[in-house]
Amino acid sequence: MDYRESNGSYFIRLHKNDAVFSSLEKFAKETGVTCGTLNGIGALKNCELGFYHLDKKEYERKVFPEEAELLSLVGNCSLLENKPFFHIHTVLGASDFSTYGGHLFSADVAVTAEVIFRPLDLEIHRGFEEDIGLNLLQMCGHHHD
Ligand code: ZN
Repeated sequence: MDYRESNGSYFIRLHKNDAVFSSLEKFAKETGVTCGTLNGIGALKNCELGFYHLDKKEYERKVFPEEAELLSLVGNCSLLENKPFFHIHTVLGASDFSTYGGHLFSADVAVTAEVIFRPLDLEIHRGFEEDIGLNLLQMCGHHHD
């Protein structure tokens, strides 16, 4: 994982076999960013995707080991238990040119990943919301459990 900064934004390159989340967490640790948005393209493998079933309050998870074009990676960074947490959704392109996607739980880089991170000058924590069953953004400016 390498990155360069320009006018407060970062261009991040992930390398073949880099784990997406641990690389982004390393980036956050090194730069000190805790809040922002990201988007990216490239190619991934070993993607674990999720679909949230609100009625059951749980994710259905599925692993796609094959290499896929990373058509769209979109997400954000906020604080969960005072640590940078990346929430990422993705659309992937298969070798038959079909697309699939979902909430991204984990993935490795198959070829490369080219990600832009734009920091926001905010401190936003996630907190658990019982009725939804997820850690959601708390916009009130303080952490509540
Ligand atoms: Zn999600």
